[in-house]
Amino acid sequence: MINKRNDVKLERIQKRRDAGTVVKRFPGVAEIVINMTYNQKGIRPIIRTFNFSPNSYAFFRIDCLSKECVDGGFDLTRVITTMIRNRSVVEKGALNCEGNDPSGDSSDIVYEVTIQYMK
Ligand SMILES: [Zn+2]
Repeated sequence: MINKRNDVKLERIQKRRDAGTVVKRFPGVAEIVINMTYNQKGIRPIIRTFNFSPNSYAFFRIDCLSKECVDGGFDLTRVITTMIRNRSVVEKGALNCEGNDPSGDSSDIVYEVTIQYMK
């Protein structure tokens, strides 16, 4: 279990590097902000904010916060790519965790993505 978790972690770091930077992938984007509320059965909702500058890695997959959930997460890549293509400024939605939590507690997020474009 520990080893699998480390493998997944290393794989994530590699994927983040492979994603390239925001300025390279999406020139013209000044800032991306992800506000999310993480919901999981039995715990209080957790609010998180992620900021991406042009020099950040263009990797928009957020890990699941459940300790038991190894390969779970929330992938906002499609949401953000579509927003940039349409020059959208704000987008709201919800996503379920992609992983299979052995404890059976599925989790989800409610997100709000805000993108600022360069003039
Ligand atoms: Zn999960």
